[in-house]
Amino acid sequence: MNSTDGQSSVATATIVMAEKQKPLGICDHCGDPIPAGDWYTTKHRPRLYCSVDCRNAANARAGGPKIAQKNRERMARGEWRNPHHLNPLPQIVID
Ligand SMILES: [Zn+2]
Repeated sequence: MNSTDGQSSVATATIVMAEKQKPLGICDHCGDPIPAGDWYTTKHRPRLYCSVDCRNAANARAGGPKIAQKNRERMARGEWRNPHHLNPLPQIVID
């Protein structure tokens, strides 16, 4: 193992941390200012979003194309099923 190259030889999956897009102190999602005391996380990384809602929305939008691509591949393979048919609504009998 070469420990001088600065790369981990253990990790097989590459995890790419999101880089800050907007300037420090500006939310990457909504563009609103982040309070001055919160510009950095407790891990000393630049805070990307002003709130949990912005973080969730940004993560969901970032993941949407990947989910859509996976679904298109499932459809091409004939594996995709309409989720509607997986959990049918219970039949309500009115007498
Ligand atoms: Zn925000």
